[in-house]
Amino acid sequence: MPETAATPATVHKEDSQVRQKNMIAAHYSRLARAPETGEKNVYTFVPGNLTELIRSFDLLPVLPEINALQSAMRGKSRDYIATAEKLGHSEDVCTYVKCDLGMMKSGNVGPTGERLPQPDLLLLSYTGCFTFMKWFELLREEYHCPVVMLHVPYQGDGVITDSMRKYVVDQLRTKVIPALESVSGRSYDEDRLREMLARSARAEDDLVAVLNAARQRPSPIDAYFGGVYYIGPIFSAFRGTEDAVAYYSLLRAEVEERGRQKLGPITPDGPMARERFRLVGEGPPNWTSFREFWKMFADEGAVVVASTYTKVGGVYDFGFRHDPSRPIETLAEYCMGCYTNLNLPSRVDMLASYVRDYRADGFLINSVKSCNSFSAGQLHILREVENRVGQPGGFIESDLVDPRYFSAANIKNRLESYFQMIEQKRFGGGEAA
Ligand code: SF4
Repeated sequence: MPETAATPATVHKEDSQVRQKNMIAAHYSRLARAPETGEKNVYTFVPGNLTELIRSFDLLPVLPEINALQSAMRGKSRDYIATAEKLGHSEDVCTYVKCDLGMMKSGNVGPTGERLPQPDLLLLSYTGCFTFMKWFELLREEYHCPVVMLHVPYQGDGVITDSMRKYVVDQLRTKVIPALESVSGRSYDEDRLREMLARSARAEDDLVAVLNAARQRPSPIDAYFGGVYYIGPIFSAFRGTEDAVAYYSLLRAEVEERGRQKLGPITPDGPMARERFRLVGEGPPNWTSFREFWKMFADEGAVVVASTYTKVGGVYDFGFRHDPSRPIETLAEYCMGCYTNLNLPSRVDMLASYVRDYRADGFLINSVKSCNSFSAGQLHILREVENRVGQPGGFIESDLVDPRYFSAANIKNRLESYFQMIEQKRFGGGEAA
């Protein structure tokens, strides 16, 4: 998900956007100053991130996936990927990895144009993606810094059992916390962690209110293209901070006001005039042509009212909240509950419930070449959800940050056909457009 350091040229910037942009700029400049200030940092991944725990040691999180997608939005990923491929990384490797490695080899200049510090610790929350492990092996070779791995069991049977929870809790207590103590020079402070988790829960309440606002007609938000901005702070470096609490409170107030006024979402060209299609989205967006991609939907009056991508860093709308009364257990449950750690039947259930609960006209899968965690099984998901909800599914293909795999004409054609299919179904079903 992007952080608004790269906000597209929206016609009007909401106060929450400005606030988010300032938060992110401040975070990156704090990172850039780290060699002088002595502040230490932890590189870690979005799914299953332990932001509150990291910050409770006064360590700063760095999320390589965020840097990669931000580089893509700034038009830099093509060169970074080429650099990584010249070094021998195959065309088939996840492009987040190649973008990050290319950035590192080109001076490790982050999204705001400032140099990122070297990691003091690599914290690998292993949530299902084997690539994560290989990625940090490469960074370890480069930086020679300590690595700690949290192995998060996959929800193969669609549930979190006591033994799974204990397995993660034990690792947090005996591996992760000691590693954070060693790097930071501080002792684990559970009261401090509890305070942060309480702030997380407040922000999570507000985020859920924002996402739920899309149940209205018209939806005041786009829960995919707009949604990726909304999840930025909570999925990355800010969960548990006062900044995040203030941001989500402001965002919620803005969205609720748009809802009261029966306004549609703000798109790259300003507020959407008329909501014609309500869709559910599955899969990450394309970042290299993000604005163009979004416009293909907005120009047709298509609004994404719910999306699975905005659940990769936490599935809050089904009730999960960080619980300060059980600090380590709640972190374990959070890690196991992220979207890509769910099995295919759970993902089908989620999509089907979104289509029904948000009264969507259909659902659309953007299958990205890079990400097996997302893309494996998506054709099966397409058929299952279609059978379950009786609404048409659409399928398009692109990539995360490799511009070679974004074919605008192809995607536009497929989208147009898909929207026609929805209209025909509507006409055939005698529903009002
Ligand atoms: S394959 Fe997917 S989950 Fe794994 S690192 Fe790449 S984008 Fe992330």
